[in-house]
Amino acid sequence: MAKVKSGRYWVTWANIHARNSTSVEEFVEPFRTNAKAFIKALEDSGAKVVVSATRRSANRAYSFHWCWTIGLGKAKASQATTVPGVDIEWKHGDPEKAGKARKMIDGFSLKLPPKSIYAPALFTKHTPGKAIDMNITWSGTIRVKKKDGGDEWVLFMTDVKKNTKLHAVGASYGVNKLNADAPHWSLDGINFAVWREKAYQGNPLWSDTTIWTTMRSQPALDLRAIRLSIVIVCRVTG
Ligand SMILES: [Zn+2]
Repeated sequence: MAKVKSGRYWVTWANIHARNSTSVEEFVEPFRTNAKAFIKALEDSGAKVVVSATRRSANRAYSFHWCWTIGLGKAKASQATTVPGVDIEWKHGDPEKAGKARKMIDGFSLKLPPKSIYAPALFTKHTPGKAIDMNITWSGTIRVKKKDGGDEWVLFMTDVKKNTKLHAVGASYGVNKLNADAPHWSLDGINFAVWREKAYQGNPLWSDTTIWTTMRSQPALDLRAIRLSIVIVCRVTG
């Protein structure tokens, strides 16, 4: 397929061919079974669960990432990577001109600095179907079944990040809380964005793909230790 220049065309295209999902059926196993069991336990105990994001289209993430970075002048059109099936010609007209990419930013309603200072991620746990965004609410205290058969009394907290008992119930199902992102739970609770920032500092030439591959090849415990050390460094320096 011949390449098509960046611009509104690709917004329309992505809204038809590269849509995100809110269905838990889109997850890969064992995360699908685990997430469904956790949600069922919550609902059985009287909680209301509203899922806002499950699997994210890799092609949509690609379009978001590059229109944002090129449109805001944070990357040159010539730096854009390519993916099969999304044949966007980022370089056209006045070389490196960002106007058409900016039209895509508007079309996708992407947040701009200072609201969002990071480019939409090329890779997240949502892309391979291992992360879920959901809002969990109830009133008072509920008794929730853990996977091991035991149960936990959990008091509702408006700040889900502080609700460690809820996190423990999720973890028993293999659905782990990421505290940097209120609605986000995943296979391992690790923040790819934090990992990426850390990796970029030492290796500015690393691509997201390299980092993603490296990250996946690390044992989970190492990653948790690294994340902890980032937090400590932030506390000490910040
Ligand atoms: Zn998420």
